[in-house]
Amino acid sequence: MLTGAGVSAESGLPTFRGADGLWHGHRVEDVASPEAWERDPELVWNFYSMRREMARKAQPNAAHRALAEAEQALGERFFLCTQNVDDLHERAGSRRLAHMHGELFRSRCSVCERKPFGDEKLYPTLASIPLCACGARIRPHIVWFGELPFHLQLIMDELNRCTVLLVVGTSGLVYPAAHFVHWANSRHGTGLPPVRTYYVGPDEPANVAAFTHVFGEKAGKILPGLLQLA
Ligand code: NAD
Ligand code: ZN
Repeated sequence: MLTGAGVSAESGLPTFRGADGLWHGHRVEDVASPEAWERDPELVWNFYSMRREMARKAQPNAAHRALAEAEQALGERFFLCTQNVDDLHERAGSRRLAHMHGELFRSRCSVCERKPFGDEKLYPTLASIPLCACGARIRPHIVWFGELPFHLQLIMDELNRCTVLLVVGTSGLVYPAAHFVHWANSRHGTGLPPVRTYYVGPDEPANVAAFTHVFGEKAGKILPGLLQLA
């Protein structure tokens, strides 16, 4: 399973492309990058504080719940990789999941190796941004544009053993997640069982041609029925 921003859209959390990729006139890439952090940490924390506030008010939807139920039924045969940084999958009951792009409700030091920690606070001003024991500023525990995603080895291992890959609500433009379907398909001829690849979402993703099945509807409509087949 791979989910993207679209799975949280029906919970009221905007996708990047849906909001024209803009936030207060800034391109999202310009507030979610190491360069933005260097240039203007206050602006970056304003963006993530706003997203924390929105995510806190949002509730899991039928698609999140259907995925948690599938995990209940399939146990270790099920694995969820999400590009989302909100916690709606966990709040719906998912446990076997990896947040490849980080987590909105965790923060960490921008310099040293001290562990990320749970953090729900909002930081509206430069002065309110806390400092680590080493003296450096605390940053969001988020994978920004240009940074390496988390859990890639685990995700590769899961792609190598899966027989069905279900991809939901992602534009197929952010790499390496957009490659997962190709990696699953490229197992063909390796002696491993062939993979069925499904996409669910109202718009065609950029990598649509790589999927064996496409459901061109919203996640909340399709997932509850689809996973009964699993
Ligand atoms: P994206 O914004 O590029 O694309 C969202 C996709 O979701 C679109 O293809 C759209 O057609 C689809 N979609 C919209 N409504 C849907 C619905 N009801 N059901 C199914 N699909 C629906 O998002 P992305 O591809 O995930 O990549 C952008 C990056 O920004 C990712 O890292 C993503 O995690 C991050 N992001 C995360 C959140 C979040 O955590 N909730 C929100 C916005 C962006
Ligand atoms: Zn530190």
